[in-house]
Amino acid sequence: MKPAIIPQPRKITYTGGISRANALSEIKISHSSEIPSEGYRLTLKNDIFHIICSDDAGEYYARNTVKQIVSTCGCVCPDLEIYDFPAFAYRGLSLDCARHIFEISDIKKLIDAAALCKMNVFHWHLTDDQGWRIPIDGYPLLTQTGSRRKKSNFRGLKEDGEYCGFYQKDEIREIVGYCAKRHIEVIPEAEMPGHTTAILASYPEFGCTGKEIKVQTKEGIFDTVLCLGNEKIYDLIFAILDEICELFPGRYIHIGGDETPRTEWKKCEKCAKKAEELGITDLDAFQGQFIKSVAAYLRSKGKTAITWNESLKGGQLEPGDVMVQYWMGNKEYTDDFMSKGGRIIQSDFFHYYCDYPLAMTPLKKTYDFEPEKTGKKADSVYGIEAEMWTEFINTFEGICEKYIPRLQIIAERAWCSDDAPGFDSFMKRFERLRALTEQCGVKIPASEKLKINPLLRIPKIIEFFAGVPDFNTIKNSIFNSK
Ligand SMILES: [Zn+2]
Repeated sequence: MKPAIIPQPRKITYTGGISRANALSEIKISHSSEIPSEGYRLTLKNDIFHIICSDDAGEYYARNTVKQIVSTCGCVCPDLEIYDFPAFAYRGLSLDCARHIFEISDIKKLIDAAALCKMNVFHWHLTDDQGWRIPIDGYPLLTQTGSRRKKSNFRGLKEDGEYCGFYQKDEIREIVGYCAKRHIEVIPEAEMPGHTTAILASYPEFGCTGKEIKVQTKEGIFDTVLCLGNEKIYDLIFAILDEICELFPGRYIHIGGDETPRTEWKKCEKCAKKAEELGITDLDAFQGQFIKSVAAYLRSKGKTAITWNESLKGGQLEPGDVMVQYWMGNKEYTDDFMSKGGRIIQSDFFHYYCDYPLAMTPLKKTYDFEPEKTGKKADSVYGIEAEMWTEFINTFEGICEKYIPRLQIIAERAWCSDDAPGFDSFMKRFERLRALTEQCGVKIPASEKLKINPLLRIPKIIEFFAGVPDFNTIKNSIFNSK
């Protein structure tokens, strides 16, 4: 039987013979600069695997392919030759540990599943309105106060009693090291200037009003944002970023920059004065200028800032300032940024947001999305990323149920985007790799649960969005997005 491999390698040739392939099979390694970065050539002949690669990542991915071949072919495997390299340099998965926090041991299981399908970025969302999860020595209240909310009142997920928790610095280092061994770069996200209720609950003086507030207990977008007219916010932010840079040795730091209401800025004298000094009348530009300053600080520390696409709206950000993560809306600004040579990560809400029900985003819809056709200048798409937000998920089992096999689908598109072999082929290979994937410690939904009855899509979407005021707009957008 032919092996099942995810992501599907771009070229497999069966060379005629039969070999034994098992966990004890000999693996020879040699190097060639002709193989692209992260790529490899793999042959199986006379019971021996031979890997040729140009770097350690290539060897790691080839060994993962060997693991999949051994798992799905048993001891009788057709001799073969594989040539493979990834379509995108950035192949990410995210996890929101701000709304709900997850055990380090569980995060490792998810990382193992992502490594098996050759992803190379873990985007770790660590701060939000509902909780701050990373210790900052210079501002201890961020965890002492900001990591605690008095209850959880999310739509469809309500829990009485205080919810709290944050990671120790050693635990964070443990995850960074664990990922590094698997050729996965960890990108932390600390949200600013919006999604900052947990900061302001800890240090109210950094808000426009200075009023005491509580860490949020429900999902949503909140007016409690950083006061950009207060020069001292830069002391706070740079201190936070200094400590984050020390913990995370990677190239990128995500600074959020999405969903920031202007309500309080409009009423704030300090913000008005600052905007006047900057010669800015438009609050989108006011935010853009802030993101630009923070990105410049990170650049001075050898890092590149990533921001959500909303921050492009003010027109302040140039391709050299930031890398942009696209999720929804403002396509024209993103197109403009790309046409100037800016790099983006594609995480389209209607295809790559994996926390939503299958009724809303069926697996095939995610598979068929063509990230390489994003925007006017396709080669500006630097990578793609699967998103996992946790307002409505509070267990690791819940994460697995929603994430798998979407994670593997997005990994396949990240690896062989332009000639992916199709959803039916994917599902057959996924089922054959189910046991190997489960060895990572993740629980995969039963096969029948992954199929969606088209007639039940609308009722299930209505059930999920019960109580959301602009539901009809959302419903139309879901069905209009191909
Ligand atoms: Zn202000």
